[in-house]
Amino acid sequence: MVQENINKVEEKIKAACVRAGRRKEDVTLIAVSKTKPIEMIEEALSCGKREFGENKAQELKQKYEVLPKDIKWHFIGHLQTNKVKYVVGRACLIHSVDSYHLAEAIEAESAKKNVISHILIEVNVAQEDSKFGVHEEEAMELVCAAAKLPHIKIDGLMTIAPFVENPEQNRKIFRKLYKLSVDIASKNIDNVSMGVLSMGMTNDYEIAVEEGATYVRVGTAIFGGRS
Ligand SMILES: *Cc1c(COP(=O)(O)O)cnc(C)c1O
Repeated sequence: MVQENINKVEEKIKAACVRAGRRKEDVTLIAVSKTKPIEMIEEALSCGKREFGENKAQELKQKYEVLPKDIKWHFIGHLQTNKVKYVVGRACLIHSVDSYHLAEAIEAESAKKNVISHILIEVNVAQEDSKFGVHEEEAMELVCAAAKLPHIKIDGLMTIAPFVENPEQNRKIFRKLYKLSVDIASKNIDNVSMGVLSMGMTNDYEIAVEEGATYVRVGTAIFGGRS
């Protein structure tokens, strides 16, 4: 079931790339395995999937310990500074950096472990009160500040779009994140690349791909609903 679902999602990503005149190699599907058991992840592994997303620090650590080390774990949830230690050195990319305070905590833990941490800045494009992330107009300032931290590399931006009935409604959100990444890239800040755009979930990933996503984070369409 998991394998079939992954194939279906990959097909839809490919079709969205064709519609947008993009190369399918430029879009990577992250299988969001949060709350799901090891066996389901193993099923995804058996069909070649290597990129998984988790939103809880301890859950990522637990799964990291028991699963093959060639998995690329993406941390996509809100991260508290006291849990940074579980994520640094295990996640290949932290998608959800939304404050300088958090960036400093990641810096400190990365220095301690002697690793470079790759991060994205989470932007609350829709300005929903219920969501984490900086507002668009604050993103540049956070990028500039975090870029000075020697054990951090900023790879791009991430957003979580609102839940909407018609995914077309989120197109403008994805466009805004893309445009913001172009604005920031044009400043040529040291240590900052804007090559990564993490946007799109089960409900709206095809639209996100059409609007420039390089990572889509899909859970439900692959592993089924979560209770
Ligand atoms: C849970 C989650 C997803 C996946 O959501 P689905 O709607 O199940 O695809 C994507 N991104 C983040 C940040 C999440 O927390």
